[in-house]
Order: sequence, then structure tokens, then C-alpha cells
Amino acid sequence: MQPKELLALAEEFGNPLYVYDASKIEFQYNRLANAFSKVEKLRINYAMKALSNISILKLINNLGAGLDTVSIQEVQLGLHAGFTPKNIIFTPNGVSFEEIEAVAKLGIQINIDNLSVLEHFGAKYPKTPVCIRINPHVMAGGNENISVGHIDSKFGISVHQLPHLLRIVENTKMHINGIHMHTGSDILDIEVFLYAAEILFDAAKHFKTLDFLDFGSGFKVPYKKGDIETNIEELGRKLSKRFLAFEKEYGRSLTLAFEPGKFLVSEAGFFLAKVNVVKQTTSTVFAGIDSGFNHLIRPMFYGSQHTIENISNPKGKERYYTVVGYICETDTFANNRRIAEIHEGDILCFKNAGAYCFSMASNYNSRYKPAEVLWKDGEGYVIRERETFDDILKNQILINL
Ligand SMILES: *Cc1c(COP(=O)(O)O)cnc(C)c1O
Repeated sequence: MQPKELLALAEEFGNPLYVYDASKIEFQYNRLANAFSKVEKLRINYAMKALSNISILKLINNLGAGLDTVSIQEVQLGLHAGFTPKNIIFTPNGVSFEEIEAVAKLGIQINIDNLSVLEHFGAKYPKTPVCIRINPHVMAGGNENISVGHIDSKFGISVHQLPHLLRIVENTKMHINGIHMHTGSDILDIEVFLYAAEILFDAAKHFKTLDFLDFGSGFKVPYKKGDIETNIEELGRKLSKRFLAFEKEYGRSLTLAFEPGKFLVSEAGFFLAKVNVVKQTTSTVFAGIDSGFNHLIRPMFYGSQHTIENISNPKGKERYYTVVGYICETDTFANNRRIAEIHEGDILCFKNAGAYCFSMASNYNSRYKPAEVLWKDGEGYVIRERETFDDILKNQILINL
């Protein structure tokens, strides 16, 4: 999207504001689908925790994707947005047995990542197809919070526990129709991913009734100039070839599934915030915006470096700024970053604001969550209203004291 278009949206709908470019989501979806075009049955399940607005879900449903969910509320949102139960997979971690049961009763594919739950579920519902989340213990991922495949990770059933797992399946006669892995976000090295995939293929051989293999996600997208990104096309060539060979070996046709979040929506998102104050100290020039980690927590939570542009003065001479929020705690978006000269009242644009940005927003400091706008075919549609004071009061009770 052009700075001018974004600026016009900030003027029309106010700020702070999240804007999502529908064409970018579409582009990314097609890019992934094309990279695996040699695979006969490909399933792309959008990991909706990245961005869960129901209009975004509808857009992604229209593209032909399925949905990857981690809570029963996400399942309900997905159904509300028009996904059919058979196009939803439920991949929770550490949720109650009752929640898994309730989701399975909706006709949704469940994915179990714990031996005790597997045993309990298999004994009670031997006929319900179940996918198993394997932990291949391959270290991937950009940082510790999002690297979920390593040896002491809480996710998945360790591949070393395969004998125990197989005993449970044998004893309960339960129906295993898929196996899954998700090694974490931000895969830097395709070879690491392929290595983990080999472990999944090896595990798959032990199950005779599989319909699909799910390779999770973790595709890295560029956040700043010169950033490495997962080479999807190369991964597509290499993994497709290996998958087709495995299908032959396995003796039946299988679906290859992925569950990308960030890859589909990260670059489609822009976060727009106004500069309230420019503060020059003895060492630093701060640009303080009308937002904070209540609206965009990734820089503070993960150390993410979102590119920031001054769309009010895109041609201005670049200077060094430390961009901070208005929260009464240190909330630094960027340290000594070169940005086109900033004046109070300018609108700053944060790139890569599609994934894990609005979906992690809170009301900390009793601030309203921003509005969200979908940019489609040259027009901006409000897909979430800005909150009001009623939203802050909602569910609170003033008792007689
Ligand atoms: C979060 C998550 C994803 C999506 O990860 P991205 O890095 O956003 O692509 C996929 N699968 C599972 C099980 C997840 O928890």
C-alpha cells in the first residue's frame, strides 16, 4: 500500500489504526499453494491466532484455505465466519479434556499432543479420527519463546516416546488419521525443516490409516531490509519431491497440510499511530506515539524489529529517533532508528503489523483497542470499530461499599 493511501485511512478512521491489505494475503496464499502445486492434495490451514478478525477469516476462507485453531473460542469464531467443521483443525496445548471433547463433538479434526489425553480420548472415542502432534526435537525458531520443538519444549509428544504412543493406539484401537509437527516460528534454514520432516516421515510409517501429514508452520517473513526469509519456492520443490516419494512408499495417497499464520498475514498489516510528542534529551530524540505495548507488544515481548516509516513526511531527511509509547512502563518500539524527520502530529506506520499484533492487544492503562480496516480493491472497510468507554466498563461491577 502507498503512504498516501494509508495516510488517507488514518484521516478517515482516526488513529491508532490497523490496516490490512487483502491483496497481500491473497498473494501469499497463492505463493504457498503454487510452491506445492506438484502435490495433489494440499491443505493450507490458516493459524488464526495470528489475526482473528472474522472478516479476515472470511477472506481467507474464500481463498480456499482451512483453519488452524488453538481454543474452542477460535473454533466458534471460525464457524461463525463460515468455515465448515471439516475444514478446521484443533491444535491446542494444555487445554482441558472437556474442551477437546466439545470440539470433537462439533465434527472438528482434533490434534492431541499429550499421552495421557490420547489414552483417555482413545478409550472413550475409539472411532473418532485423531491426529497426533509429534515433537521431533529439532531446534528451529527465531527466539526461545517461539521455538517449540526443542527437547524440553512443552509442545507435542516426544518422538522418543513413540513406542509408548503406539502401545496406546494398539490397546485402544483408536483411529489415527494424521500426524503433525510444528517446530516453531521463524525457520531460517530449510535444511533444518527438511530434517524435522524426515523424522515425521519416519514416525508416519508406524501408522497404517493416515490421511494427512501436517508440517505445521514457522515460515519466516522479512521484517526489515536485508532480512532473510524462508525460501518457500525452494522448500516447495524439495519437500514436494520428498512427499511424493513417501506417498509411494506408504502405499496410499495423502494430504500434505500446513498451518501458516505469519506467512499469510504479517506483511499485509500496517499499524498507524500519531506522534504526540517529540522529546529531545541530552542523548536521544524520542518520538512518543499515541499507542504502546497495549496495541503492539511484539517489540517488547519478542524484541521484534518492525520497520517504521513516517508517512506524513516520507521524503524528509532521515534522523535518529527512539520510538516509544505512552504506557507508564518502558515501552520502546525502536531504538535510535533512522526515520524521515518527525514532527508532532505526524503519522508513523509500522510494517508487518498483520500477525500477532492486534490479536495480542489489550486494554492496559484502560485504553481502547484500535479500530481495524480492511483495504480491498482500492477501498477501506471498517472490520472492527474502535472501542468506547462502554467496552472498558463491560463486565465490571460497581458494588455497594
Ligand atoms: C502459532 C502456530 C502456528 C503458526 O505459526 P506462524 O509462525 O505464525 O506461521 C502453526 N501451528 C501451530 C500449532 C501454532 O501454534
